[in-house]
Amino acid sequence: MARYIFITGGVVSSLGKGLMAASLAALLQARGYRVRIRKFDPYLNVDPGTMSPYQHGEVYVTDDGAETDLDLGHYERFTGVSARQSDNVTSGRIYSQIIQRERRGDYLGATVQVIPHVTDAIKQFATAETDDLDFVLCEIGGTVGDIESLPFIEAIRQLRNELGRGNSISVHVTLVPYISAAGELKTKPTQHSVRELASLGVQPDVLVCRAEQPLPESERAKIALFCNVPKGAVIPALDAPSIYAVPLQYHGEGLDTEVLRAFGEEPGSSPDLSRWTDIVDRLTNPEGEVTIGVVGKYVGLQDAYKSLNEALVHGGIANRVKVNVRWIDAELFEGDESEVAAALEPCHAILVPGAFGERGAEGKIASIRFARERNVPYFGICFGMQMACIEGARNLGGIENASSTEFGETSEPIVGLITEWMTQEGVEQREAGGDLGGTMRLGAYPAKLDGNSVVSSIYNSKDISERHRHRYEVNTHYRDVLEKGGLVFSGMSPDGRLPEIVERPDHPWFIGVQFHPELKSKPFDPHPLFRSFIEAAVRQSRLV
Ligand code: GLN
Repeated sequence: MARYIFITGGVVSSLGKGLMAASLAALLQARGYRVRIRKFDPYLNVDPGTMSPYQHGEVYVTDDGAETDLDLGHYERFTGVSARQSDNVTSGRIYSQIIQRERRGDYLGATVQVIPHVTDAIKQFATAETDDLDFVLCEIGGTVGDIESLPFIEAIRQLRNELGRGNSISVHVTLVPYISAAGELKTKPTQHSVRELASLGVQPDVLVCRAEQPLPESERAKIALFCNVPKGAVIPALDAPSIYAVPLQYHGEGLDTEVLRAFGEEPGSSPDLSRWTDIVDRLTNPEGEVTIGVVGKYVGLQDAYKSLNEALVHGGIANRVKVNVRWIDAELFEGDESEVAAALEPCHAILVPGAFGERGAEGKIASIRFARERNVPYFGICFGMQMACIEGARNLGGIENASSTEFGETSEPIVGLITEWMTQEGVEQREAGGDLGGTMRLGAYPAKLDGNSVVSSIYNSKDISERHRHRYEVNTHYRDVLEKGGLVFSGMSPDGRLPEIVERPDHPWFIGVQFHPELKSKPFDPHPLFRSFIEAAVRQSRLV
């Protein structure tokens, strides 16, 4: 039977709970255990798919087509375990299921209540499909004390009883602030937060204390005394130089050992952490550096491009170089050529990431033109591929009005709404006025690559599978015009209907992909396209 680790946060948000969960899972995995991490989000959206990246950061897409919290990206990047729809649930999803059942009459006669109906649904979610696992880590979003998270904490309390002693533990992540005027670290917020959690019936077994200053023994002892945990189980967590140094740091502070002890197990041999020491070595001792210009819309908030940023770092790890990302707001230079050049000339390569809507599109198209004409490596992801096609159509294909129907009606729809596509279950159909939530072409789809293409040599394969999240596609009616302009369709959906990859063979590195390769990149297994893109940037840096 799987054992459970429930992870909650206290005092403030943004303590890096997700990173802690991912690191702990990686450490347990390095000891040979099979792990899976799940995320409970207390908000009322059914999923984060319709939320603005400014509100919520990136939407992470799984192979099975779920739009999930970005923490699932950390989980995958740290453990290599592919996340599934069933690994992320929100209050909204739980309530919507319960209300659907109520309307169907499934509860006929009963009053539908938070306890037991909502808590039962949460428990079912936590325990579903866990037979092949040693540890399930369940992270509860938000902060203890939030009204919205109460049913989740209550479900944990019940589950801890039902699973039986020794089969679950609670890890609580808190903040120990440093008051510089007094020159002291303060443990009171931690004490209060633990008291709050305990008053809901959940006594933590391990405390992870985020702090900006080293936690003296005396303060550890104080926290242990007031919070009712062994002193060793008070784990200090200082800021790390890189997120990939976090597993090693937590191991150094004894996190994995204390977690196993809390389960009543005396840890034997040390975990094999060579994977992490190699990554940290590559990050701390780079042999060069490159600057990548990312021309996007949400550049003020880096969480909006979380996986992209990480995939670029992974490309750097693969090439042993430091990757400096220059975030460029596409709206700043809608169309003005000299401003485009001024922003992009310092960059060794240019990337236009995924996006929705017209805002900033002209600035992106101008950047792509710059990359094409100046022979600077260009990587277009999803929207970035679509804009590369519009750029080619306008400036090489003579189609002045080339546009996307995403921006409104157009006489030259180089990019148009996808109304049907093949899934494993058959044809999926969409209409122009349909729901926006959960209706894109989502998740893993295969693509066939042309054997002579640049991409097939990068992947070293003609068959790939990548994750998607889009509603529009490049219109194959324009294939001839675009190919005459040097933009080759080198990857297509297996039925030959949807363009998946375009490339310019006469350019040092110019590739556009309809999918999101950044979602599958890992620090210990950098994605081939990012590896190759950064390699091209390194070559470019030697030219200038
Ligand atoms: N807005 C475009 C579409 O829906 C691109 C989406 C994306 O970049 N993820 O097709």
